[in-house]
Amino acid sequence: MRNTILKNVGNILNMCHTIYFDVLQVHKYHTIFTYFRSHIKDNVPNIFIFSRLFNFILIYPMSRPFSIKPAHLNLTNPTVCPFRKSMEFTVQHRDPSTRARTGLISTSRGTIKTPVFMPVGTRGAVRALTYRDIEEIGFDIILANTYHLYIRPGTGVLNNAGGLHSFMNYHHPILTDSGGFQVFSLAALCKVYENGVEFRSHIDGSKHFFSPEGVLDIQRSIGSDIMMSLDQCCEYPIDKPAAKAALDKTADWARRSSEHWRRSFDTNRQALFGIVQGGVYPELRQECAEKLVAMDFPGYAIGGLSVGEPKELYREITEHTMQFLPDSSPRYMMGVGSPPEILSAIRHGVDMFDCVMPTRIARNGTLYTSTGRLNIKAAAFENDTGPLDASCGCYVCKNFSRSYLRHIFRVGEISALIYNTYHNLYFMKTFMAEIRAAIEHDAFTELEKKYSLIY
Ligand SMILES: [Zn+2]
Repeated sequence: MRNTILKNVGNILNMCHTIYFDVLQVHKYHTIFTYFRSHIKDNVPNIFIFSRLFNFILIYPMSRPFSIKPAHLNLTNPTVCPFRKSMEFTVQHRDPSTRARTGLISTSRGTIKTPVFMPVGTRGAVRALTYRDIEEIGFDIILANTYHLYIRPGTGVLNNAGGLHSFMNYHHPILTDSGGFQVFSLAALCKVYENGVEFRSHIDGSKHFFSPEGVLDIQRSIGSDIMMSLDQCCEYPIDKPAAKAALDKTADWARRSSEHWRRSFDTNRQALFGIVQGGVYPELRQECAEKLVAMDFPGYAIGGLSVGEPKELYREITEHTMQFLPDSSPRYMMGVGSPPEILSAIRHGVDMFDCVMPTRIARNGTLYTSTGRLNIKAAAFENDTGPLDASCGCYVCKNFSRSYLRHIFRVGEISALIYNTYHNLYFMKTFMAEIRAAIEHDAFTELEKKYSLIY
């Protein structure tokens, strides 16, 4: 069996002019390398070593004696060239009774297991946590906000730093939203024009203009791995003519975004998603989805849901919209959500989520646990020496009692916010892992039932 695999790998490599090794995966390839070096060494002129962590490629001539160890990164005179790899999405497994699926999104900075939850690092930081915490919890990707990073620190600082990854010293994938949601919900005096939207900063009242092309250029300065096209987000409730006008604007801006992206971006390094709007009107959602799909984006986002509409309407619109988005693309529900909202969307085939809720409620003392929400301020926990959640394996649950966590929260210690946030994000990480495992074992419906009793 092993020899067959090695032979097949050798045959494939024999057809290549170059061979790629990922430094983080090097141990897996060592045996394979040893095999083909003895068989096909003259056919392969170069070895490429790429590092997902540091984002470079070393090219090394095959004629020199070589065995793969990370220490070889110190080889003299390697050729360093830009790393190129297009974003790819592959479905791994489908739940037989729903549209839930597991998959992998490959980007130049790493692979993302889906369904995935992305913690929100609004201004280049996940509030109350360090990146050591984020690494420790083990997220594949984080989200940052284009609007906030544009306002502060601004593209000048980001360009000077070489993009957000090196600015933050964070080297996993980053997704950025388009800024549309913040402009329409946060900024003052926004006016929509054919070419974009004018608004005043929520910080100092200064006047700015976002065009579809300009928003992508900001996301280029950020260096995000997955970018979003500018959209006009609808509030709830909204009448149908207004939702239709926002849809038309969103679709037109998506077309201009797509053209700008294909014309002047390295599409292999920075992917672009279109955002489906249309309010709570099924025919408008269909129209918007069909227009975007005709533009052939690498992925699709659903915006303007979970903005105050009844739960039943959220479910109906999600299910309806999803049928018009291609099965072969990742599908991202923006700004969602709570465990029930996430489960409901996954049932209909959504792959990606982001939401400030787990971190925001943590700072207010509300914690997700395996038995439901818990308010750490409650008097019942004053002398409770048990862990926050006995089923949770996080640093906080392993080390501190409910009594202590209640005390530090009540007296306003900063560490209370840190511990609460850490636990809630750890919960989200394990929640998503549990969902993926359930889909893999054809047991998604059972998992939904379990959580419907808790949340
Ligand atoms: Zn915990």
